[in-house]
Amino acid sequence: MEKADTILTGGIVVTMNRRFDIIADGALAIQGENIAAIGTSADIAARFQSDQVIDCTGQIIMPGLVNAHTHVPMTLLRGLADDLRLDVWLLGYMMPTEREFVTPEFCRLGTLLACAEMIRGGVTAFADMYYFESDIAQATSEAGLRGVLGQTVMKYPAPDAPSYDDSLAYCRQFIEKWRGHSLITPAVAPHAPYSNTDETMRRCVELATEYDVPLLTHLAETKLEVDDSLSEFGMSVITRMEQVGLFAAKVLAAHCVHIDQTEMHILHNHDATVAHNPTSNLKLASGIAPVTQMLKIGLTVGIGTDGTASNNDLDMFEEVRLTAILAKTDAGDPTALPARQALLMATRQGAEALFLGDITGSLEVGKRADVITMDDSPLHNTPHFQHDPNAIYSRIVYAGKSTDVQHVLCNGRLLMRDRQLLTVDEMTVRREASELARKIDHFLMQREQDILSKLLAIGGIRQSESFEVQVKAQLPDATTIQKLLTHPDVEVLKANHYRQYDTYFLFGDSTQGRVRYREDDRIGEDGEVESVRSRITFTTPTKEREFHSTILLSHSRFIADANQSLRFYREYFRPESERELHKDRQRWHLLYQGVLFYVNVDRILKPELDGVFLEIKSRTWSKSDSENKADRIQAMLGILGLDQNAVVSSDYLEL
Ligand SMILES: [Zn+2]
Repeated sequence: MEKADTILTGGIVVTMNRRFDIIADGALAIQGENIAAIGTSADIAARFQSDQVIDCTGQIIMPGLVNAHTHVPMTLLRGLADDLRLDVWLLGYMMPTEREFVTPEFCRLGTLLACAEMIRGGVTAFADMYYFESDIAQATSEAGLRGVLGQTVMKYPAPDAPSYDDSLAYCRQFIEKWRGHSLITPAVAPHAPYSNTDETMRRCVELATEYDVPLLTHLAETKLEVDDSLSEFGMSVITRMEQVGLFAAKVLAAHCVHIDQTEMHILHNHDATVAHNPTSNLKLASGIAPVTQMLKIGLTVGIGTDGTASNNDLDMFEEVRLTAILAKTDAGDPTALPARQALLMATRQGAEALFLGDITGSLEVGKRADVITMDDSPLHNTPHFQHDPNAIYSRIVYAGKSTDVQHVLCNGRLLMRDRQLLTVDEMTVRREASELARKIDHFLMQREQDILSKLLAIGGIRQSESFEVQVKAQLPDATTIQKLLTHPDVEVLKANHYRQYDTYFLFGDSTQGRVRYREDDRIGEDGEVESVRSRITFTTPTKEREFHSTILLSHSRFIADANQSLRFYREYFRPESERELHKDRQRWHLLYQGVLFYVNVDRILKPELDGVFLEIKSRTWSKSDSENKADRIQAMLGILGLDQNAVVSSDYLEL
């Protein structure tokens, strides 16, 4: 009699090996980390003896599922912000929160939460991309799961690295520390081509090939990404990455939603693998990846949940089911991607996608004992039919649920028995995650109450405070201004012509201030637009003081280049109302009696307002200077033949 550390017996063994062997009354003997034998219950009982024999009657014994793409610590951000467009979600919520909260401790806790959830759902291996990946590795190995863990590299500052040089240095140390570990495969994870430069991509490839570790990245996730690549580089994302040399590494590419046949062949020729993330792609409206074609070409495709911020759970049973169902509708063919193939993608082929095919993904002697069992006869999986041996795959894929999982072993170690977690303290993790959620809530609620802090959260803001003496008046017509421009006391320094498209975001409480999105089109002499720039400005209510017919304004402004679309800011700020103001503006910088003034002549195009408006203003810094300038403005109004009756409100929105 041989000694086994654990024996699973009396279940239906679904091996997912190359012959897709199924053993009706089957058993598995485990020695150390490995599967020592697979056979009928009688065979195994005749050969092995063990102190730990687990009766699996009424259960299916199968390989643990492989989650081919996720971001485990994001479990802590689950449900933080949903039903938003990708840019608002990412730039408005995820990144500001991550900048504030992501620490090694955050990653440890988030990983434990994710591992507990994945163990409960029958996952034994996963591929991750995040920050502080060494802390993720520590927590993963404590939980006892197998992980291909990719340290993120981006051209932007990240929570764990102020520059990409720092992330690459961190990544090297991380690889040095964890390579050769029985559960952890360290990897390099350039976030995506659009969040990296060709240079950072190449350096990631060098690092990955130097240590022969996988390279994980996001490729061709959205149509926008592909369109941008086409317009910027004249080629698709995958083609360009081939040129950059990305595929010299062992690449696991997440998403690949928008790729054509040529690109599939490029991936295949380079032995790159794909992680298909159906829920995430559907939830973010990214599209449906052409998985059936990928499989036809022979690409290795695994299935992933993606991070919980875009899914929102790590349930691989849902993902496998959706993979099969979605492919059918996408192909217009119910025979496309049958249940067995979908399950294969989440087991043996999933392991191959993670470059772990030689050690896990199927129940075979000599492979690691990454095994799960699931209740074969819950109400939602009753009754059973025997005429078709493949019916078991339908039962697992179409009716099986993560809550059916009973026992989980990874690397020969029991992680869950009778649905009791053995390696993660579920109560503590829940409590700590809830405590952190309160802190994040507080941070977001404070931010949401205050327009300025929302603006500051997206970065790139300059503050400017100024005092101006200003008058606004109605001109009889646009030519009147010539009286001033040709006056002997006036020297014109500069003349410009603009068309300005302002959108004001107004909030219920007007003391909060308002946000203006301005597109400034500079118009050339020929009347054509010469240049366009967009800026976003936050103004607190101006303080005004009368000064003859002029007024003294004090402004406090926060200005940033608007590098996102108007739509982005609208969805991000969620104003109570909006006002549009379009105007044609002639602008002069002039000296009047040697003092600098800015003079604008505006025609309001939207809302349609009759008349031509004059604005004269100058920066000021002291009471005597203000009085001085107010006097000069008064004199200029005189030159133009304007009296007190022509003066209007300083704020166009009030006209
Ligand atoms: Zn992802």
